[in-house]
Amino acid sequence: MEKEITILKPSDMHLHLRQGDMLKTTVGDAETWFAQGVVMPNTLPPINTPDRLAAYRDDILSLAPDFKPIMSFKLYPGMSADAVKAMKASGALLGKLYPAGVTTNSEDGVKSWHDIKDALRAMCDLDLVLSIHCETPDAFVLDREYEYHREFAEIAKAFPDLRMVFEHMSDRRSVDFVASLSGRVAGTITAHHLLLTLDDVIGANMNPHTFCKPVVKGPEDRKALRQAAFSGDKKFFFGSDSAPHLKAKKESGSAGGGIYSSPCAVPLMAELFEKNGRLDKFENFMSVYGPAFYGLPAATSRITLVQKNSTIPPVIDGIVPLCAGKTLSWALKA
Ligand SMILES: [Zn+2]
Repeated sequence: MEKEITILKPSDMHLHLRQGDMLKTTVGDAETWFAQGVVMPNTLPPINTPDRLAAYRDDILSLAPDFKPIMSFKLYPGMSADAVKAMKASGALLGKLYPAGVTTNSEDGVKSWHDIKDALRAMCDLDLVLSIHCETPDAFVLDREYEYHREFAEIAKAFPDLRMVFEHMSDRRSVDFVASLSGRVAGTITAHHLLLTLDDVIGANMNPHTFCKPVVKGPEDRKALRQAAFSGDKKFFFGSDSAPHLKAKKESGSAGGGIYSSPCAVPLMAELFEKNGRLDKFENFMSVYGPAFYGLPAATSRITLVQKNSTIPPVIDGIVPLCAGKTLSWALKA
């Protein structure tokens, strides 16, 4: 008999669905593997008005009616309390802080949290979650995340009641940092940061398809992230940060940061947890702790994975996915 794993359908607590033609691909893959997902707002133009949020949510639901988008808005310098209130009224559960210039479409981001003080106070009062891309843009690239700890700690101190997510942790020092903060602070972990190191990006020929922000780091960082994911600590949960760029753009000489992992992240994670003898922690990490932190129910439906080899396609609709061409040992049961 084939080996099987059945879990509550996962929740992807950090996801870039993009727009236009790409949206069809991304929501389809998200709907296959995830019951719900935190949809990031760094579109062009950004999701920072109620109208844009409603239109984006409608676009997503029209393509994937079985996928529940958890909507966010992008914080901007000087954002008022009333503007935050309007975003909450339109259905947003979180606001996203992008330090200016740190990643895709963040040139209009925030230079200092002091520039969004009023918005943060309102988010605190309205019990919205603050999600942060934690990197200091002008620091050395491998220390950018660590350098951001100070800013993160300042916000946590100024707003002790605010729920905060340290997104896509990549540095071993961030694991200890998040663990040391209150229960109102959590951290997401991606599949690629659990699987790759900098050797996969620049160890042989440079591979733009493994380039993301924050960049994947060393073996010790990956080890610490795995320990966090396997720990059963509810502060740490899955967020893919799946972020596609077209193959032609990735291979252009000026590759944007981002890895498309939606189509394969769940089976890759099943394999990782199984190989490390931690399948008992798999469901909570993928499906339970994330929604719980946001005060949302986990999925009611389940998925079953069966042990069966398949190959990750080299290209999906013009996008090279994570671990393209590699063999997966788990597949979705039909
Ligand atoms: Zn992201």
